[in-house]
Amino acid sequence: MTMKYSEFEFRTQPWFDQDNFQGFNEVIPMKTMIICCFDPRASEVPQVVAKHFGDEIYPGENILDERGNKIGHTRTLFAVYCAAGRAASGLQSAATMDYLFSVQNIVVVHHSFCGATAFRPDQLIGKYHDCHHTDISTMFDHDSLAIMNYEESLRHDVKLLRDSPAVPKHIKLYGFFYEINSGELIEVVRDVPSRDGTGRIA
Ligand SMILES: [Zn+2]
Repeated sequence: MTMKYSEFEFRTQPWFDQDNFQGFNEVIPMKTMIICCFDPRASEVPQVVAKHFGDEIYPGENILDERGNKIGHTRTLFAVYCAAGRAASGLQSAATMDYLFSVQNIVVVHHSFCGATAFRPDQLIGKYHDCHHTDISTMFDHDSLAIMNYEESLRHDVKLLRDSPAVPKHIKLYGFFYEINSGELIEVVRDVPSRDGTGRIA
């Protein structure tokens, strides 16, 4: 039985060779993943980071075939938007992107006047319990729930990525602070593995 919408899956396309799949990098040259907050005041972060690195394309454009089907894109930098831009929320995306693309960089960006600087982790958990009578205290890494200090949150998140099995060891990691009013982007943490993969520059 054919399931509804299955004709839109890659795995059902006659030309698709699952056993020899090498990823989609030939049609979308993705190389950098950004984890940033979904606050609309920080929505320009991907453009700002692309400009900072200088060799990224964002937003880029669709590549169409002769029938107008979207078969690729020129974008090199993908954004994962989540609450406060905490790395813990981006781990599954990091592992998925490694299967589909040749990711080289993961960039964490925390921005000024982020909502996550308005509470402590215990306050979030306490209010949730009061309002919804449910305990979420064991569901999340408490150090990833709020932003108590920008340097600490960025260092925590770069370390979390470096120590995670979901992030390949060759990937270069960066942590930036973004000031939403001035538009300034400041590098706070950098963890770039040496070429042999044994050391790192902090
Ligand atoms: Zn925010």
